[in-house]
Amino acid sequence: MSKKKTDQVSPLEWKQRLLALRGDIEALLAGHEEPRAQPESDQEVGDRAARAEAVLDHEMAAETTRRRHVELNRIDAALKRLEDDEFGDCVTCGNPIGPERLALDPATPFCIHHAK
Ligand SMILES: [Zn+2]
Repeated sequence: MSKKKTDQVSPLEWKQRLLALRGDIEALLAGHEEPRAQPESDQEVGDRAARAEAVLDHEMAAETTRRRHVELNRIDAALKRLEDDEFGDCVTCGNPIGPERLALDPATPFCIHHAK
């Protein structure tokens, strides 16, 4: 007995998944505030390597935060498409995005051909 229902995920379920993803990212953002302090550049805080590392840490943290905001925007856009009844269609060609693709990344706006 195999009940196949993988192809049909209701809009409500997508919405719940997207909102769950959104919540995860917001929690991460809340727990990891934007790095605001600049690494001290005037003072010699140890050797150059340590300073370079501090700068790198700072940049990586900023990059992580930036990516999370980008992801939030993608999810918001996906939620909007859901409301407009366009969810699951590629925004470039309008063809349906494969269910496997959506399962992996519900916020993706592109079909497999336009993913890059
Ligand atoms: Zn496409």
